[in-house]
Amino acid sequence: MTKWIYSFEEGSANDKDLLGGKGANLAEMSRLGLPVPPGFTITTQSCINYLDNPDFFDSTLKEDTLKAVTNLEKKTEKTFSGENPNLLLVSVRSGAKFSMPGMMDTILNLGLNDQRTQLLAKQTNLDFAYNCYRRLLQMFADVVYGIDKGLFDDCLAQFEQMQAKTVHNLDLYEHQELINQYKDLYSKHGYQFPEEPNQQLYGAIQAVFKSWNNHRARIYRELHQIPHDLGTAVNVQSMVFGNSDQTSGTGVCFTRNPANGEPKLFGEFLLNAQGEDVVAGIRTPEPIASLKISQPEVYKSFRDYATILENHYKDMQDIEFTIEKGKLYILQTRNGKRTAKAALKIALDMVDQGLINKEEALLRISPASISQLIHPVFQESALAKAPFIVQGLPASPGAATGEIVFTADRAKEAHQEGKKVILVRQETSPEDIEGMIVSQAIVTSQGGMTSHAAVVARGMGTCCVAGCGELNISEENKILSCGPLVLTEGDIISVDGYSGRIYSGEIPTTLVEHNQDLQRLLSWADEVAILKVRANAETIKDLQTAMKFGAQGVGLARTEHMFFGQERILEMRRLILADTEEETREALNRLLEFQEKDFYQMFQAVQDKPMIVRLLDPPMHEFLPKDFQEIEILATKLKKSPEKLVDCIESLQENNPMLGHRGCRLGITKPEIYKMQTEAIFRSAIKLHQQGQEIKPEIMVPLIADQKELEFIKNYLVQHIDQLFKQYDQEPFPYEIGTMIELPRACLTADKLAEEANFFSFGTNDLTQMTYGFSRDDIGKFIGQYKELEILPFDPFQMVDKEGVGELMKIAIRKARQVKPNIPIGICGEVGGDPSSISFFQKIQVTYVSCSPYRIPAARLAVAQATIQARS
Ligand code: PEP
Ligand code: MG
Repeated sequence: MTKWIYSFEEGSANDKDLLGGKGANLAEMSRLGLPVPPGFTITTQSCINYLDNPDFFDSTLKEDTLKAVTNLEKKTEKTFSGENPNLLLVSVRSGAKFSMPGMMDTILNLGLNDQRTQLLAKQTNLDFAYNCYRRLLQMFADVVYGIDKGLFDDCLAQFEQMQAKTVHNLDLYEHQELINQYKDLYSKHGYQFPEEPNQQLYGAIQAVFKSWNNHRARIYRELHQIPHDLGTAVNVQSMVFGNSDQTSGTGVCFTRNPANGEPKLFGEFLLNAQGEDVVAGIRTPEPIASLKISQPEVYKSFRDYATILENHYKDMQDIEFTIEKGKLYILQTRNGKRTAKAALKIALDMVDQGLINKEEALLRISPASISQLIHPVFQESALAKAPFIVQGLPASPGAATGEIVFTADRAKEAHQEGKKVILVRQETSPEDIEGMIVSQAIVTSQGGMTSHAAVVARGMGTCCVAGCGELNISEENKILSCGPLVLTEGDIISVDGYSGRIYSGEIPTTLVEHNQDLQRLLSWADEVAILKVRANAETIKDLQTAMKFGAQGVGLARTEHMFFGQERILEMRRLILADTEEETREALNRLLEFQEKDFYQMFQAVQDKPMIVRLLDPPMHEFLPKDFQEIEILATKLKKSPEKLVDCIESLQENNPMLGHRGCRLGITKPEIYKMQTEAIFRSAIKLHQQGQEIKPEIMVPLIADQKELEFIKNYLVQHIDQLFKQYDQEPFPYEIGTMIELPRACLTADKLAEEANFFSFGTNDLTQMTYGFSRDDIGKFIGQYKELEILPFDPFQMVDKEGVGELMKIAIRKARQVKPNIPIGICGEVGGDPSSISFFQKIQVTYVSCSPYRIPAARLAVAQATIQARS
């Protein structure tokens, strides 16, 4: 018989699939002997069954829940229903396999009703008992019936006003009157609060199941690529009360600093409060260090438990705790969410402490988060002059500028209008998730380092400053003020997530490129990785950046990009539109000079590393002007008539340029361009050789479909290179001629191409275009809908299509290696830098991936992870 419910003693940390992360960790902590209030976990499979068929609850789960409650009553020696004065109250919390903070629902203090609240009041005090009861009524209404929580706050505020007292000074009759008003809110919405504790529990469990599918939870799962079919577990746990008195409290604490990784307890707590008060950021909590002063014994025990948990899980923990009348309870632990910077520091520190090894450290960092480590910071000189507004808590690093918006909805709208926005709120709540995703930064006036805004922003890698207490924010009037300064929606501010400082106006940013921790980790990555990482780069600046980021060579220098400077494009246009041989020669000579200079500098920049130069690829008309005014200017410069130029430009137009006169087809019909480029490559290489630098030029021919095309081009290039060696009196040195593989026919005839080529490089941009028949420039028009309709869950130009394009690649590799077993084969299309495609490339045995400079660090990590994962 399937077991639907596990008591905490029955599970372990390995049961995350079944018990969810929270349930598995509660079980593990119970096994470790930590002070965990007893309880039980209803499995994720129960949730899946219930969502499939709600009758499952009545037919199966209800009975098991009752049994689990009876067991809990025995264990705690308390009762959940009836009038026994030893009251068992429980919390009901969601807990999926992957943590989704605040996205699903929680209800506390279940088991209270009119009678039992009076019993609780006798044992404790009136204020405490009714405070618990009101919280239950409010949460239950919201979670189970969807009644707006705010209505209860308004009701309380009005009641206090009417009575001219605070809620803490009410007598029994007044408390009861307020409870009746809360219950009236239920009736107004057509509901009744169930007095019977078991009925409360049944309602709460089903509501938590349903919250798996609420809008914000779905959005969160999409953002973090969590599958929608996992379901959530439900944890039912006996309550301990952090709101009992001034020796009670509740808090959240990380075992290390989640913003920068510093190895020091980092947390906060609220005296006389319940858990959600901390997370919701409604009251500003105190730092954990102050517990050391107020309750040194409790602090010491907490520190010891934190160490036990961190050493046990070998990772930084995010721990929730409650102190009830001086006794400490641990309510939850999980691997803490952290910024990329903190993740890196923690992983390196744990290697140094001997807690994990280098390979584990490499697996701990997500390649996608690496971009945050080469993130922007404000330019120091500009920062010094910027008008400072306010200082808050540096909750999540980054430097961002944008227009102020006050609501998540407005953030979404403005984002769609193409604006960069900063979401400014008193506090954020899980409903704000979509607005938070599209914002450059998030600023709150309330809440601490573990408030919703802080935790979620860190998880997303978004800059965040929380708890700017001096800011007065009116979300309704769309106004923010700080002293005499008043700003409204649309005004520009700049947010520094490192210092927590906020400035008005825009501040320019620069990129941090030197991160020693990152360099250390990536040096370990290079030691283990099988695949090499090269750069796609053709300007000196890009090349230098690529080398700084650890590129192991250049996999693709697209030479057409070198013709776009003002002087150069004129010569290219002169060449294309030449009427005489002399004009052609003149233009070629000038282009030769430019290219030679470029290649000379590039060879110098890459030093002893390989560099593949690809010969001209795009069709000619891409270099020509379209606008008549521009054509007239060009005609004057070239001393030709505008009409003639128009005719000539029109004659070069093609119906399907992507399938037209481009790539090697140009090289065959207009060999003078490829010859000029080859001459430029060899003149610079010979010069550097003669200056003592060893260079092995690698020339790549684009868009080959047939062996004969490659043979034709190779023949004339080789002849030309032989002549150049003679002309410059240079002993021939080795060089290579290879081809792009970017057409399905090239894949299918790769054995024949391998006879001619020294190397291959997959141009997956064109290969994907030609395989799917999707224009790479027009896919944006339909990919969104394709994703929504789940016809294509990803864009194949960004992530490799293993089934189609990948199969062609496999055929090509197999055939090529039958002819040349050691032929180097790279990938230089966009997917070459996609971490999620890299393990596939390793599996099909390519030699290297090549990507744009800023993607290199992430790719270096991803190739190492692919190697480690392939071993396990
Ligand atoms: C490719 O097609 O994948 C490629 C790298 O070449 P380009 O993008 O320049 O066509
Ligand atoms: Mg291409």
